Amino acid sequence: MESTDPHPKKIEGIKQSKKRETNAVSITWLGTAGVLISDNQTGILIDPYVSRCGILKIAMGLPLQSDKEAIKKWVARLGKNHIQAIAVSHSHFDHCLDAPYFALETGAPLMGSESTLNVGRGASLVEAQLEAVKPDREITVGEFKLKFIESIHGPVFLGRVPYPGTIDKPLFPPRPAGDYKLGQTYAILISHPYGTIAHHGSAGFIPGMYEGVTSDVVLLGIAGRGDTETYLKNVPLKLGAKLVIPIHFDNFFVPLEKKMRILLTAHFKEFLAVANRHCAFFELQILPIGKKVAILSEKKN
Ligand SMILES: [Zn+2]
Repeated sequence: MESTDPHPKKIEGIKQSKKRETNAVSITWLGTAGVLISDNQTGILIDPYVSRCGILKIAMGLPLQSDKEAIKKWVARLGKNHIQAIAVSHSHFDHCLDAPYFALETGAPLMGSESTLNVGRGASLVEAQLEAVKPDREITVGEFKLKFIESIHGPVFLGRVPYPGTIDKPLFPPRPAGDYKLGQTYAILISHPYGTIAHHGSAGFIPGMYEGVTSDVVLLGIAGRGDTETYLKNVPLKLGAKLVIPIHFDNFFVPLEKKMRILLTAHFKEFLAVANRHCAFFELQILPIGKKVAILSEKKN
């Protein structure tokens, strides 16, 4: 899919060219809120979900199984030695089901709430590979610094958040979707010498959560949001973002190998129409699934 803006502006510090990727921070979108953020030395994998369980399984409450073969293939494709951390925004199955297996496959630590760590424990990750996150504690990974900021989940079903609650003991798979309870919801601020990226994986927000925070790029989860204008005001506009990349608008009940379809509940066209009113402030970019795209380049002095 092409960018919706046929005449993208040139933005200092934001790399749109595909030419040179060595001195750049790139993003590979895995569908849903899954992204690999990499500077070619260090990679941070967030919310990877490649198993894409069918909607009947979810709706009928059947046990969900991670697709280990698909995870192996994605790890090979992304580069096993280029993933140094697996971070999770919240513990719903479409963010957390596969994350422990990406950790097992790569040896990278799993970072997230206590609920997320209990999904890791159920998948036999050892304590040394689990990293509990605390709001405002900075975690350094290579040249990246990660900060987990408390947020809330978007109001998916008529103002209700699905599967509320926490996972208080190791969750041994296979378990139904409803057992992947929300836990704490985080936005993740990823700072690098080339710039800052905010991963806002679920379309809720706490007013003032980004007070005093800025970010060049926002990866904006748009499924199950409330009013689009209010959401934009409180997240990308508040952060002063120059580039907004919508995520979590693809139909994640369809396998990744099939043509990407848009989730009806993402109201994608309405999002684009409202977001385009703010084109004086930020550019919109739609990423293809599975392709590495350079986003931030070395800042010239
Ligand atoms: Zn969720």
